[in-house]
Amino acid sequence: MSDRYSFIRSDLAQLAAYQPHPGGKVDYPLDRLDTNEVSLDLPSEIKEKLAWIYQQQIEANRYPDGSHLSLKQAIAAYVTESASLTNPINPEQISVGNGSDELIRSLLIATCLNGEGSILVANPTFSMYAILAKTLGINTIAVNRKEDDWAIDLEAAQQAIDTANNPAVKAVFIVHPNSPTGNALTTEELNWLRSLPENILVVIDEAYFEFSQTSVVAELAEHPNWVVLRTFSKAFRLAAHRVGYAIATPQLITILEKIRLPYNLPSFSQTAALVTLQQRELILPFVKEILAERAKMTAILTKNEYFRVWQSQANFIYLKLKNINFETAEQQLSQLTQSLKTQGTLIRHTGGGLRITIGTKAENSRTIERLEKLIVAR
Ligand SMILES: *Cc1c(COP(=O)(O)O)cnc(C)c1O
Repeated sequence: MSDRYSFIRSDLAQLAAYQPHPGGKVDYPLDRLDTNEVSLDLPSEIKEKLAWIYQQQIEANRYPDGSHLSLKQAIAAYVTESASLTNPINPEQISVGNGSDELIRSLLIATCLNGEGSILVANPTFSMYAILAKTLGINTIAVNRKEDDWAIDLEAAQQAIDTANNPAVKAVFIVHPNSPTGNALTTEELNWLRSLPENILVVIDEAYFEFSQTSVVAELAEHPNWVVLRTFSKAFRLAAHRVGYAIATPQLITILEKIRLPYNLPSFSQTAALVTLQQRELILPFVKEILAERAKMTAILTKNEYFRVWQSQANFIYLKLKNINFETAEQQLSQLTQSLKTQGTLIRHTGGGLRITIGTKAENSRTIERLEKLIVAR
């Protein structure tokens, strides 16, 4: 960076802006199976209702509701119902963000800024934790997962917590089920998280809850240092509107509310989240079809002699190449991803493997067909 911009923090110079779709835009239609959205747009009756609300009720000249109250009430009721909780989650236990990305950033600011803490992650995992930490000058400690089932190397994780002191680990970020590998937390992993002291924040990101139906929300009451993150970007098909939420104790939620921007969520996004919650019986049944497609794809890809495929609890599949030269594996995965893109299928090459979102039936059969041809021709 030239002297002219010497006012910019020096640690940002090495940082490149996040590219959601590495490799850039193309001018032909693509099956976009690289970012784990649902491939189906909202039902048209919901879109029509949203358009009507925009026309009749939303005042474009007014700031949005900065309290998010009606949305928080609806989310609290949904969380309570979806986990069959006997003790309901209250609206005071919910904070709403501009995507869960905003909440991740707020949690980082609340715990680790000013050199007060490091975060711990287990790779391969959601890249946004380390990226956002870096933009804030926060140190990330990464431990590995064991390749047979992608469970966290708990010994290494415990050791990082016991020994890191410059600065110490203040927050642990875990995805449940994990992305890109699709595995849900095991009892052993859960027991480890339960054993962590209350002076460490435990963030459990349940972005794929609607697919896995596994949740720790029932345990929040016993663990005041836990936060659960959820999003409307995946099963609720609202990625365009950027709505995520955190569930935690009222005390932790108060901290998140202090940190967020006052009008972080546009009126239209709040409305969209509210309406999809109210009409979820029109949206969520599609999850079943995705799970059926996932089973089909997993079975087909597992039979292929070139692929090592893991069972997934989410709306994507993770695989690696089998029986190949380890030295050139990364290069071969890159080439495969690039060739697939040329043929019209976008997938994600990450963590030493390929992550493929489950799309529509037609998208999935094209993916299988293209992958199987490419792997033989390689
Ligand atoms: C997709 C995803 C999210 C969602 O992020 P938003 O900002 O809400 O769109 C969060 N966490 C993980 C692990 C994800 O895969």
